Amino acid sequence: MQANLPSTQGLIARVEPLTLTRAVRGPFDYRLRPEQADVGVGALLRVPFGGRKTLGVVLALATESELTPDRLAEPDSVLPAGVPADLVELAGWIARQYCSTPARALTLVLPPGTAGGVRRKQVLVAELTDAGADALDGGAPLTDRQRAALEALRRDGPTVAATLGTPTLRRLEGRGLVELSPRAHGRRPTFRAVGRRLDRAPALTDEQAAALDAVLEGLTAGDGRFLLHGVTGSGKTEVYLRAVEAALAGGRGAIVLVPEIALTPQTVGRFQARFGDVVAVLHSGLGQGERHDEWLRLRSGEARVCVGPRSAVFAPLADIGLIVIDEEHDASYKHEGDPRYDARTVAIRRAEQHGAVVLAGSATPRPESAVALTRLRLPNRIDGRSLPGVEVLDMRGVHHPLHPRTRMALADVRSGGGKAIVLLNRRGWSNFVSCRGCGHVWMCPNCDVALVLHRAAGRLACHHCGHRRRAPSRCEACGSVAVARHGAGTESVEQELRDAFGSELPVFRLDADAAAGKDRLARTLAAFEAAGAGVLVGTQMVAKGHDFADVSLGVVLDADQTLRFPDFRAEERTFALVTQLAGRVGRGEHSGPPAQVLVQTLAPFAESIEFAARHDSDGFLEQELRRRNLLDYPPHGSLIRIVCSAPEAPEALAVATRLHDLIAPAGQTVLGPAPLFRLRGRSRSQLVIKCSERDAAVRAVGAAVDECAAVAGRRGVSVSVDVDPQ
Ligand code: ADP
Ligand code: ZN
Ligand code: ZN
Repeated sequence: MQANLPSTQGLIARVEPLTLTRAVRGPFDYRLRPEQADVGVGALLRVPFGGRKTLGVVLALATESELTPDRLAEPDSVLPAGVPADLVELAGWIARQYCSTPARALTLVLPPGTAGGVRRKQVLVAELTDAGADALDGGAPLTDRQRAALEALRRDGPTVAATLGTPTLRRLEGRGLVELSPRAHGRRPTFRAVGRRLDRAPALTDEQAAALDAVLEGLTAGDGRFLLHGVTGSGKTEVYLRAVEAALAGGRGAIVLVPEIALTPQTVGRFQARFGDVVAVLHSGLGQGERHDEWLRLRSGEARVCVGPRSAVFAPLADIGLIVIDEEHDASYKHEGDPRYDARTVAIRRAEQHGAVVLAGSATPRPESAVALTRLRLPNRIDGRSLPGVEVLDMRGVHHPLHPRTRMALADVRSGGGKAIVLLNRRGWSNFVSCRGCGHVWMCPNCDVALVLHRAAGRLACHHCGHRRRAPSRCEACGSVAVARHGAGTESVEQELRDAFGSELPVFRLDADAAAGKDRLARTLAAFEAAGAGVLVGTQMVAKGHDFADVSLGVVLDADQTLRFPDFRAEERTFALVTQLAGRVGRGEHSGPPAQVLVQTLAPFAESIEFAARHDSDGFLEQELRRRNLLDYPPHGSLIRIVCSAPEAPEALAVATRLHDLIAPAGQTVLGPAPLFRLRGRSRSQLVIKCSERDAAVRAVGAAVDECAAVAGRRGVSVSVDVDPQ
């Protein structure tokens, strides 16, 4: 910069252009025109940038720029909806914490549909006036059609005009009997609950009341990080509901994070039933327009509770008093795209910004949370119902997917007319297919993994990249027709159960294949719930927070499968899976056989399985924390994972080695480079950084990645950084 050139004075906006290129880092200065004087932090501008037009977010305002007037461009236009200033700040924090870029982090907090230019769709909504209600009761002259429309409005509350006939309503409007107003509710996923009676809260148990008291104190103080550690069925949701109620009563808003909306319709339903219209629901099943409308309802303060998956942590609420994280152990809280943020960590940051309380809950909390949060306990199930007995079945030497004990228990369920849930965390028919003649194994051409047989669809599929091909009837290497299938998946277990138990025990399957297509998942869950008897078989999806009243048997097949993953969270995952499945069992006042859980495993003495069988989550946590301490794993220290991938292995390795050499001298423990299996046609090389000084390590990694960006780009290597990998 030349010192004696005149700098610009006037209204300047510092704008971060929303480009995904890592090399471009804003902010860049733009001169606002006088009519743009009301632009504030978070405003979205369309700006000229690098010879193109692009969207940008205002990070700050200034009165002077170091650039000379002739070098300052003006924004083309200002978009109607911008980002709240606190979310702009949050995005900056995320970019730093997760070694990403401000532009990428900002895309997380934009109003939905910004890029596509979604406009709020207006629809005409009709509402009954007092005069209209009198007309209905007082026998005013009405045609049949008019009467029907008024009655529908009284019964259902405000309704989209077109569904009742706009011309009819226009005439009623002329007489003052209805009011018609354009609203943006047309795309709302569930219509206004006005007129619907809201659900009443049950009296709390003493344990719930004690937990709630602590949260209420936190709400008053505007501070508090709680872990509601309660066994499955202990009434955690009721505590969340009361805490949200208290936040609302204090004039503040609340965010309720749930793992996956499609898998937790009951939880969402309970919030809507309790609070009605102030609840906005954000989920992936919504169209862009619907999301945009829910976002605006939150932004305007019309809705003050946001229920949704991890991205709901960015709900544009003005004043947040409480953030609930339901099932806080769930892996879906971690985002797998760049930035690889963790909604649980972001929630704590956001709570700091707002002076809000964080209330995380689980029956199987993460060791990280057990250490960092204030523990509140619900040690018993509601109504003193007991947890089901758990029996571990040793599968060594058993050459059938179902242990004889499991078959007997399922037969009991059939004769007693009850329900069972069978969990096998592997979809498809069999996990690999080989040739009996020459040993050829059908592999994915893009990844170093075997293809999985999906028999109903008649094909082999890669569960990593989605590659598919016809299922083979003969070996392509030697021509033999003896093609062998190995291992079992949910599809073959489903068939196994049908064959063994016939039509008296209907089988429902729940996994990513069976759930494909909108609403399929919710329909399967509803069908199982409505059925008099049956078995629900599926992947970990079957173990998520469902509250079915009459399940008396739970079965985990191949429980040690998660233990075989080379991952420090293997124990934690296995413990949670078994415990969560047990949590679905014995929840109602079932009169049939006593509730029980059978755990089939090749590792019957694995500690995580033994702890789960004893319902001993305290014991598990203690043991797991000790183990992690010894190995310097979280929460004792933090991990950062860097994966370099390229079409050719040497290129990936070269960049990983360079990164290693840049990061290690900064005083960090760097493990690797270690090869990972080829994925989507790319060879991969991994580094793992174990650090006690997390912020310093993140900075060192960020600097190293920036320094390597150019050479990585030239060699076709992409570098992905994962802070706190899951
Ligand atoms: P968790 O989330 O801890 O697994 P839930 O919140 O699903 O447990 O509660 C289990 C069941 O107990 C639900 O059907 C819920 O409606 C009911 N429940 C919760 N609290 C109470 C209470 N205080 N009195 C009566 N029933 C309750
Ligand atoms: Zn062969
Ligand atoms: Zn593949």
